[in-house]
Amino acid sequence: MKRIAVLTSGGDAPGMNPAIRAVVRKGIYEGLEVYGVYNGYQGLIEGKIEPMTLGFVGDIIQRGGTKLYSARCPEFRTEEGQKRALEQIKKHQIDGLVIIGGDGSYQGSMVLTNHGIPCVGVPGTIDNDIPGTDYTLGFDTALNTVVEAIDKIRDTATSHERTFIIEVMGRDAGDIAVWAGLAGGAETILIPEVNESMESIVQRLESGSSRGKKHSIIIVAEGVMSGNEFADKLKEHTAMDTRVSVLGHIQRGGTPSARDRVMASQFGAKAVEVLLQGKGGRAIGLRHNQIVDYDMKEAFEGKHELDLSMYHLSKELSI
Ligand code: ADP
Repeated sequence: MKRIAVLTSGGDAPGMNPAIRAVVRKGIYEGLEVYGVYNGYQGLIEGKIEPMTLGFVGDIIQRGGTKLYSARCPEFRTEEGQKRALEQIKKHQIDGLVIIGGDGSYQGSMVLTNHGIPCVGVPGTIDNDIPGTDYTLGFDTALNTVVEAIDKIRDTATSHERTFIIEVMGRDAGDIAVWAGLAGGAETILIPEVNESMESIVQRLESGSSRGKKHSIIIVAEGVMSGNEFADKLKEHTAMDTRVSVLGHIQRGGTPSARDRVMASQFGAKAVEVLLQGKGGRAIGLRHNQIVDYDMKEAFEGKHELDLSMYHLSKELSI
């Protein structure tokens, strides 16, 4: 292993920049040449590949997004696209790659690993939904963005004695909703992992208001339904005055939190160590507070499990 490359792919997440920095600096520290691939697999196909310097990754540890840009690349799903990518890898004499992205990006990298180019995945997605790791880069930053928004919305909810429905991201996972709901003191949290009846939701809201609660915060994970759809449903059951707030893409941006920077540094450095051992088809993750590498297949074939104890705790605490 003499020359490695790093790319970011799929949805961006705060923490990708500090992860790029860690891969480049750890690689150079270990005596490797490190290349950067722009625009994910699209750039790999098009040969947008450049040598990275220590300076290139200077002043990015605190920046959201990704300095290498990201993309979704349908062409890489085709044999022709994969062939072109492999040709570029050969041309640039790249011996291994670090792929920073979600499980889709991981799956793409298996194609390269299976063609003899070892790839190691670093989990980068705000959704915290990659199987096999307790943490994905960007989750903590997104969570803090959502909690800050809840706090602000709560001020208005209180002043106007209203029920607010806040739609949050998370794809098919309820992690952002549950953590933000617990941290923001939400009265109700709707997540894809739990099917709660409208009757039970309405009963809880009404029992709160009958004991004098002036406002309610309801968090709806996008994997359940949209905030507006839920507001319409609620209207069928209660005369409560509601407002909907869709947080949207603000959840994906912003300065990475200290936790995301630290995790990105550890994940990125570990990815380089794994490549140096000549291993490919591995994913980096956090398990029981330890940085580990595991079979990448587990990440896209396994199932992400949300810790439901927090969901139940939030219910107990919002009576
Ligand atoms: P994420 O990595 O955030 O889950 P996507 O699922 O959109 O994002 O995947 C990012 C990119 O990875 C895709 O645009 C595609 O180029 C590549 N990719 C995903 N799945 C595959 C696959 N099965 N085979 C080849 N490439 C894939």
